[in-house]
Amino acid sequence: MKCQRCEHGEFIETQENYHYRECGLDNVTLVDLRVRKCPECGNIMPLIPNIEGLHDALARVIINKNCALTPTEIVFLRKSLGWSGTDFARNMHCDKPQVSKWEHGAVTMSKPYDLLLREMVVSGKKITNYHRADITFKRSTQPHPFRLQLRKRHWREAA
Ligand SMILES: [Zn+2]
Repeated sequence: MKCQRCEHGEFIETQENYHYRECGLDNVTLVDLRVRKCPECGNIMPLIPNIEGLHDALARVIINKNCALTPTEIVFLRKSLGWSGTDFARNMHCDKPQVSKWEHGAVTMSKPYDLLLREMVVSGKKITNYHRADITFKRSTQPHPFRLQLRKRHWREAA
């Protein structure tokens, strides 16, 4: 296997916190993840087992957060449900331009829609520890950091 950036032929295997931008969210860290690192250019190739389980765990931490969903989180949750924009509009009982406004941050999703989306993630993924009573719906001023760690092949929120 060759480094895709510099074509160097060998990698070092190591463990480090990995900023998981590939999920579409900017604020997800995979804690102590096994990675392959190019000693020449520093290019990192993450070794992510059980990606489906990771995305389930991520959906779970997102819907348990106690402030309004951000546009990128809405996109992530919609995709985790396997829905197109059209499916999403149909299931949310709204139209596609509305979905586009939420996903581009033109408007904040109102509380009933936010709760409905979380509820659908819950019923789709059979999540049981869901504390919607704690949600205050303050508009978040900073990105909420999500940290996930693999333990015995299950992805959990890191301590
Ligand atoms: Zn390289």
